[in-house]
Amino acid sequence: MAETSSPVVLYDEAASLQALQRYGILDTPMEPAYDDLAGIAAHVCEAPVALINLLDSHRQWFKASVGIPLRETPLDQSVCRYAVRQPGVFIVPDLAKDARFAHFSIVTQENPLRFYAGAPLVTPDGFALGTLCVLDHRPRQLSQKAQDMLGALARQVIRLLELKRANDRQGQMLVELEEARRQMAVLAHTDVLTGLANRRSFTARLLQEQALLRRDGEPACLLMMDIDHFKRVNDVHGHDVGDQALQLFATLCRDVFRAADMVSRWGGEEFLALLPATRVEQAQAVAQRVHAALAAHPVPGVTPPLVLTVSMGLSSFDPLRPLEITLRALDSALYAAKREGRNRTVVV
Ligand code: GH3
Ligand code: MG
Ligand code: MG
Repeated sequence: MAETSSPVVLYDEAASLQALQRYGILDTPMEPAYDDLAGIAAHVCEAPVALINLLDSHRQWFKASVGIPLRETPLDQSVCRYAVRQPGVFIVPDLAKDARFAHFSIVTQENPLRFYAGAPLVTPDGFALGTLCVLDHRPRQLSQKAQDMLGALARQVIRLLELKRANDRQGQMLVELEEARRQMAVLAHTDVLTGLANRRSFTARLLQEQALLRRDGEPACLLMMDIDHFKRVNDVHGHDVGDQALQLFATLCRDVFRAADMVSRWGGEEFLALLPATRVEQAQAVAQRVHAALAAHPVPGVTPPLVLTVSMGLSSFDPLRPLEITLRALDSALYAAKREGRNRTVVV
């Protein structure tokens, strides 16, 4: 079915400019698809010059130009500015005889242009962005058939612009999708409340580390930390304060441990840390720093001050021992620390 030109053409300078900007077409290189349409327009209208002309704020910019070596000219030299204010093809049989255009440089130049016919480029929502226009060196007319063809070609220009916009949007969506995928991958490895590694990703890390240690023979330690009487924190102060207490613990760990160490949320109020290239005595010093940091930083916003304590099991990370055995030994050390009165570290 043949398309008809949009009955309403809106040319409101600000709104049309905004409509033009959503295509991201200004200052893009010339492209064969647009050149072809301008070439067909020149041929159909038997004119030496054809332009796909877009009206920018201070200039008219040519996406395609046949017969003129320019890509842009000033807006005050624009015949198209008049063409976009009406539906249908705007025709000036002799520019030299029209007071609006007679002084334009295209008319006063050597080998002047005299004839103009332009079909507005109208977006699906009715904004005129510019024209597909043809010009000739002699005064003349344009047959109704040729005017119709010029209008049809103008609609094809809009089709190309719409296609570009859809492609750009799809590209943008792919970028956003990739970012969402990346964020999900991070989330899959992260405990949401504390931002620490979760148990699943940390287990994988421990197995990796075991293989490295087997190869390099470096010492390493594991520290299992369990907040004391945490159930009581929830019971007395509420679950939100409990959450804040867990976040405080994670924050303090970030300060106390070295960048090469890795702390995970192993379970509810239980945290497991890996200390690479660390001997047990050094790890004991780190554990003392954790005890001290907790003592110095009560949970914020709670009165009377709520000071957390933690019990810990510390063990060297023997790469030749199965991981479950090491974890079980750490658990035993941790429960020994609990039994012995909490707020302490027991080494196995
Ligand atoms: P112990 O000194 O023997 O470790 O005693 P405890 O009270 O810390 O240990 P218990 O295992 O009895 O209780 C742990 C509590 O931690 C129970 C659970 O509701 C709470 N908990 C676990 N995860 C979360 C959490 O994400 N937020 C809050 N607010 N509480 C949590
Ligand atoms: Mg506990
Ligand atoms: Mg526990």
